[in-house]
Amino acid sequence: MEKYLQVKENIIVTIDGPAGAGKSTIAKIVAEKLGLTYIDTGAMYRAVTYKTIKNGVDFSNTVGIIELALKSEMRFEKEKLILDGEDVSDKIRSRNVTNRTSIIAAIPEVRKCLRDMQRNFSKKQGVVMEGRDIGTVVFPGAPFKFYLDASVGERARRRYAELREKGTDVEMDEIASDIRKRDALDQNRGLCPLKIPEGACVIDSTKKTIKEVAEIIVKSIKVKK
Ligand code: C5P
Repeated sequence: MEKYLQVKENIIVTIDGPAGAGKSTIAKIVAEKLGLTYIDTGAMYRAVTYKTIKNGVDFSNTVGIIELALKSEMRFEKEKLILDGEDVSDKIRSRNVTNRTSIIAAIPEVRKCLRDMQRNFSKKQGVVMEGRDIGTVVFPGAPFKFYLDASVGERARRRYAELREKGTDVEMDEIASDIRKRDALDQNRGLCPLKIPEGACVIDSTKKTIKEVAEIIVKSIKVKK
């Protein structure tokens, strides 16, 4: 009953899917159009990874990592993630952080800690929350659930364009290989693996523009509301 009331008061839109499916860009547009707050949960897992590296904690030191996560204060200011008072939005996007985040994301206590924060965010405001387990574990009862997918080739092509635009020197093969590895880790882990949430609307964005996908989501929310 309490969950139902909460959902009624603050709309919760969940968007899950693999790396590079366009979740972030699309979630931002949907949030903007519906006047909701955008929450990037991947950024939160990245932030714990960044903090682990920054503090020189070994990645095999699970207890040390959990301690860091529990002591973290995170908040979103528009699209910026503030971790313990520091804007880490750019720092958490490095390849080093990206490739090690799956290790952090496989620790149950870290997931619980971040899940509690994510649920708390939704109590204060309506949210569009994107990640890997939002419609399955964080908000299984959310009324608006979406799962975005795209072929590996297309996801690699998008990431390549994005990084090149930022001036990063990368190889397309390298990106595709990183994406495949991350997919395998995220989909095959025992804990909260990436999968299609029950009742979610599945959208394949391979041949669709960002605008088209955002439109589909916004329209279906407006119709259901
Ligand atoms: O979405 P993004 O690529 O920034 O996510 C980085 C990593 O964080 C993912 O590869 C995944 O391991 C982890 N993650 C997760 N659960 C979420 C969001 C992200 O396990 N809800």
